[in-house]
Amino acid sequence: MIVGIDLGTTNSAIAVWRDGRAQLIPNSLGARLTPSAVSLDEDGTVLVGMAARERQVTHPQRTATAFKRLMGTERRTTLGPGHVYSPEELSALVLRRLKSDAEAHLGEPVAEAVITVPAYFNDRQRRATRRAGELAGLKVERLLNEPTAAALAYGLHERDQACQFLVFDLGGGTFDVSIVELFEGIIEVRASAGDNRLGGEDFNELLVEEFLNAQRAALQGLEAGEREVLRARVREQAERARRAMSSEPGGTLRVTWRDRTLEHVVTAERFEKLSEPLLARLREPVLRALRDGAVRLDRLREVVLVGGATRMPVVRRAVTRMFGRFPGAGPNPDEAVALGAAVQAGLKGRDAALKEVVMTDVCPYTLGVDTAERRADGSVRTGLFTPIIERNTVVPASRFKTFATMRPGQRVVRFTVYQGEAPAVADNIELGSVEVPVPAEETGLVTVQVRFTYDINGLLEVDVQVPKTGETRQLLILGQQSDISPAQLEERRRVLAALKIPPREMEANRAALARGTRCYEQFLGDRRAQIGELLRQFERVLDGQDPRRIEAARTQFMRSLDALEGESYL
Ligand code: AMP
Repeated sequence: MIVGIDLGTTNSAIAVWRDGRAQLIPNSLGARLTPSAVSLDEDGTVLVGMAARERQVTHPQRTATAFKRLMGTERRTTLGPGHVYSPEELSALVLRRLKSDAEAHLGEPVAEAVITVPAYFNDRQRRATRRAGELAGLKVERLLNEPTAAALAYGLHERDQACQFLVFDLGGGTFDVSIVELFEGIIEVRASAGDNRLGGEDFNELLVEEFLNAQRAALQGLEAGEREVLRARVREQAERARRAMSSEPGGTLRVTWRDRTLEHVVTAERFEKLSEPLLARLREPVLRALRDGAVRLDRLREVVLVGGATRMPVVRRAVTRMFGRFPGAGPNPDEAVALGAAVQAGLKGRDAALKEVVMTDVCPYTLGVDTAERRADGSVRTGLFTPIIERNTVVPASRFKTFATMRPGQRVVRFTVYQGEAPAVADNIELGSVEVPVPAEETGLVTVQVRFTYDINGLLEVDVQVPKTGETRQLLILGQQSDISPAQLEERRRVLAALKIPPREMEANRAALARGTRCYEQFLGDRRAQIGELLRQFERVLDGQDPRRIEAARTQFMRSLDALEGESYL
């Protein structure tokens, strides 16, 4: 069985193509979104998903979230002594949770997956994502760009007429804009642009700052550790208030700190004002994608909203203003990507219900080589980036450029391959290099031809040829392949497998307990006493070890907390 997975910054989701349609798979709590969070318990147990997200407030130092933003970097996260993880290992733990939820739901093993990535992810980030899948014991059939997945979920591939869409995807931590074209059964991402440092969390930070400023007097003299705990609590309240503002005119942040409850009300107008700088940042990638895709605004058939943060009215209004029309209605914006990945998985499995859809993609970054130039005064300037395949070229693509040696008598030419948009190679990402011998001409220069061929799986083939001698050299760069050895992979998979992880049926109970503990810390007075009593009752049922009673008590416990918090969890 091949599944489709949206590995998100804030939430992840898993879906499958069954009975002729894409369906989301609920997790052990019955929810369709699983928080991308990992936390280490006091007894060395690793919690993933909602239980971990609840602990973000009560145990920020032992909890990791938003690690998708670190994918492709060397950054390690310490959750406790002996528990240090790379971003891809944390992602692997989330993927493993999703895999086991899917297996429990489907009643069969899940070994293969289509995993989505932001269109803007570079090769390193894509490699790390692929590795996360492998560490979770999944064969990664394909990495699919998130906007392409959204287009599939909206059923754009089922329309007969040729048309162009814009996919506007604002998630927890990344923003992606893509121009998607449909033509004779081919879905093509014509252009993509984005900002991988812009998302719902940045809107939360606005509210956090607003709260801390307003409460400055009450919060003086905090130590660094205290400040971190406080910030996590405020952030959690900011997230709540912001979500509430999607359906109500304002929101309230309520934080209990040293026997006092600090409260701050934010009106919709104030929030819109605070959001202005972030809303302004949404424009640039939109304009760039339109420009790169050579698409006129009035030729766009539809604007497709994806990502949970597009539920925010301020964002919807900004989109309506930007495009002069209302965005289209489709599946839930935070579920579309996983559903689209499942459609792609269905295509992989050649499900009869799906029309044949050919998908092409674009290369997200410019690929080129380093060159030097001789200035008028004879001095040489090195380290210049010369593009060969420009970003947003539809792949597969093959392009060549001809270069000349720098000086007479030169014996060898070395090309170093880079990806990026900066004019100096030092600011781009180095991918590899290749050398070719040239005949040492006493006078005049020798020409060398460089051809780049980039295929749909991110494999870049570099061919260097010296026409005069027929000498050729080749370099293969495996864009999305794993770059660690099978033995290393096995070793890291073993480490992850050995982690103490609660069994699936316990996971939901741990999540409920973590939520109860957080609520206990947050409330004061009668409500706190009431939560304490609810917690003790639930713990007593857990001690009884009767699965049916536990499930009923857990549902009851969660409903009581919903009532106290004024927000439903599922
Ligand atoms: P995603 O990465 O698509 O899961 O999107 C996650 C982001 O969507 C987070 O920043 C959430 O706060 C945000 N989000 C989810 N639901 C809502 C909502 N109802 N209103 C506002 N933001 C939301």
